[in-house]
Amino acid sequence: MRQSQLFTKTKREAPKDEVSKNAKLLIRGGFVHKEMAGVYSYLPLGIRVLRKIEQIIREEMNAIGGQELTMATLHPSEPWKQTGAWDSVDVLFKIQSRTEKEYALGQSEEEIVTPIVKEYVDSYKDLPVAVYQIGQKYRDELRAKSGIMRGREFLMKDMYSFHETQEDFDRFYQIAKEAYLKLYSRMGLVAKATEASGGNFTTKLSYEFMVLTDAGEDDILYCSDCTHCANVEVSKQKEGDTCGKCNKGVLALAKASEVGNIFDLGQKYSKDFDFTFKTNDGTEKQPIMGCYGIGLTRLMGVIVEALSDDKGIVWPESVAPFKVHLLSLGSTDEVKKSAEKLYGELLEKRIEVLFDDREASNGEKFADADLLGMPYRIVVSERSLQNGGCELKKRTEEKGEVVGVENVIDLLVTRA
Ligand code: ATP
Ligand code: MG
Repeated sequence: MRQSQLFTKTKREAPKDEVSKNAKLLIRGGFVHKEMAGVYSYLPLGIRVLRKIEQIIREEMNAIGGQELTMATLHPSEPWKQTGAWDSVDVLFKIQSRTEKEYALGQSEEEIVTPIVKEYVDSYKDLPVAVYQIGQKYRDELRAKSGIMRGREFLMKDMYSFHETQEDFDRFYQIAKEAYLKLYSRMGLVAKATEASGGNFTTKLSYEFMVLTDAGEDDILYCSDCTHCANVEVSKQKEGDTCGKCNKGVLALAKASEVGNIFDLGQKYSKDFDFTFKTNDGTEKQPIMGCYGIGLTRLMGVIVEALSDDKGIVWPESVAPFKVHLLSLGSTDEVKKSAEKLYGELLEKRIEVLFDDREASNGEKFADADLLGMPYRIVVSERSLQNGGCELKKRTEEKGEVVGVENVIDLLVTRA
């Protein structure tokens, strides 16, 4: 895409009321627009990032047998009253219609998914089932101060699974845990799965997936040696203790952000909605259920927090809005022609490229490239042409190298 056509522009200053680094950088770059505390619109650059995060999650959920659907977000109040959540979930947004009817906005969707799956599952032969969606969620959060990391409206992937037996649930649960760890690492993040119970490894299963960042709202203890990680709230150990799991490493304290979690819901919702299936021996049983959440907009914020530097954002290639930022510097015909030609060739090779073809100063173009954070920058200038081509530089490196214009595409393809 041509930057001259992009309707958003970068800003030098972040809004004064934003305290978090992710919101400051994302607003300055024109990725998001703030509507009110905890509510953001996603602009052309921002939506490209979200769509890539979404696709990675979709691929990993499909790979473990998840079936995608989209459930309503405007809900009748009845199922929420049936489970007791209407009165017990403090973040639930409730809407009063002009006809006096009450509605809820989806904050999680057990109340909707359980009756849907119940309609199609009659026998043990129909199980297990895992369904998921990627969609907007609404929560009446008291404090929304971490930019896009804690929203009142946000994008979440929520999966729900239904099983015949506890053993089958446990089997799937481990598979889901591995899929989660894989998808975070595909996004350039190292996530740790907490042990819900802290020192006691036998209670009901639940994992929180944590990425270390000072912008996080959780305090965790993690082992220097093994994968053990626990939320301070529930851990029976403290900083400096020898890890209770491997008995080797030492526990360190850190701030982290919860980018996902998975729960054993037991038969709570099956019971609430009177969901039974016929077992092998003809008796009726209620399925065991699990739920699996990932915050996509929070993830985008965490990536910015964890990977940016003092000049701007550093997108991992897997989620970057464009792989390449092509800068045309100076106004000589030769530069313009070479840059245009290269742009055309990149498009032809289906390499995603943002082409800075604007009439702007070199300084402005360089600063924008750093702020916007595409993984590769290619500069075409009079000087680069004199030196034999264009300059190719990675966002994570200080210095670039001059390479022949005819070689640069091959280099990009082989380095991917
Ligand atoms: P938190 O403790 O951070 O409020 P939670 O325990 O309420 O999270 P879940 O209900 O399990 O979270 O939601 C699943 C995932 O959705 C979380 O792991 C997180 O990544 C994301 N998430 C939860 N609340 C928000 C929010 N207000 N804004 C953005 N993402 C959120
Ligand atoms: Mg919450």
